[in-house]
Amino acid sequence: MQRLIFVILGFIIISASPAQAKILAAVSISPQAYFLKQIAGDRADVVVMVPPGADAHTYEPKPRQLTELGKAAVYFAVGMDFEEAWLPRFAAVNGKMAIVHTDAGIEKIPMVAHDHEAEEHGHDKAKGGKDHDRDTAKAAEKHGQDKAEAGHGHEHHDGEPDPHVWLSPKLAKVIGASMRDALIQADPEGASAYAAGYDRFAAECDTLDGDIKKIFTGLPAGEHKFMVFHPSWGYFARDYGLTQEPIEQLGREPGPKVLAALIKEAKADGVKVVFVQPQMSVTQAATIAKGIGGTTAAIDPLAEDWPAGLLGAAKALRQGVVGQTENK
Ligand SMILES: [Zn+2]
Repeated sequence: MQRLIFVILGFIIISASPAQAKILAAVSISPQAYFLKQIAGDRADVVVMVPPGADAHTYEPKPRQLTELGKAAVYFAVGMDFEEAWLPRFAAVNGKMAIVHTDAGIEKIPMVAHDHEAEEHGHDKAKGGKDHDRDTAKAAEKHGQDKAEAGHGHEHHDGEPDPHVWLSPKLAKVIGASMRDALIQADPEGASAYAAGYDRFAAECDTLDGDIKKIFTGLPAGEHKFMVFHPSWGYFARDYGLTQEPIEQLGREPGPKVLAALIKEAKADGVKVVFVQPQMSVTQAATIAKGIGGTTAAIDPLAEDWPAGLLGAAKALRQGVVGQTENK
C-alpha cells in the first residue's frame, strides 16, 4: 500500500514538473532512429533524413529538412554515400550542430562484385588467386571509365568500404556507444539516462544476435549462398556464415550477358530465391528468378523496426538457402 502511494505521488510530481527540454537529434536512416529511441528515450526527438521507401544511396535532402536541421543539436552520420556530399552543407546550415561519425570505430570490409564478363571469357573463379586479382584490377579500370558517365546507380563499388554496418547487431552496439557518448556531451544532465538506455540497447543487440545465430544453426555445408539485387548484407553474412552474391555489378544494373551468367551460376549453386529490397527495382531479380525457376523475396535493410527487420530477414534468408544441396 505504501509503495502504491509512493508510485502515485511520484507520478503526480513527474506530471506536475514542467516539460523537460528535449534535444533534437538528426540521423541519416531509419534504423539509426530506432537506436536513438532506445538510448535516449523521451529525452530526444529525432529527424530522419532518408524517408521510408526512398533509396538511401541516391537520396537528396529537401529544403524543409535543412530547415529542421537548423534546430538539431547533433547529427549522427553512419557513413551513407550521400553524407559525403551533404555533411558540409548541413554544417553550413547549423554551425552549432555536432556532427558525429558513428561508424568511425568500425573496421569496414570492402564491397565485392564479381566480374562476370571476365568469367564468360574463360576465366574460372576456381583458378583463384592471380587470375582473380587481374580480373578485379580490370574491373576497377573499367569502372573508372564508367564512373564518369554514370549519373545514377547505387554508388558503391568494388573494393570500396561497405557502408551497411547497421545490419550487424555487433556493430550496432559500436554505433550505439558513439551515440550515447555524443548525447551525454550534448545533454550532460541526461548522462545516467543515456548510459542506462545504451545498456538496455546493447543487451537487446546481444539477444538479437543470439536469436539470429539460432536461426542459422544446423544449416548443411554448402547451403549458405544467397543472391541479392543490392549487396547490403555483407556484415550480416559475415556474422552468420552466409555468402552474399550481388546482382548489381559495381553498383549498377547488369546487362543481359551478366544476367545470363548469374542465372547459370545460381542454377549451379542450387539458388531458388532471389532477394530484393523494397526501395529498389525488382525487374532484374525477377528475370533471374524466372530463369532459375525460383522466386523473389523482399528483405529490408532500412526497416524502422530494426530488430524485427533483421529477424525477418534472417528467417527469409534461411528459407532461401535451405535445400540448396538438393537443388543442384
Ligand atoms: Zn547500399
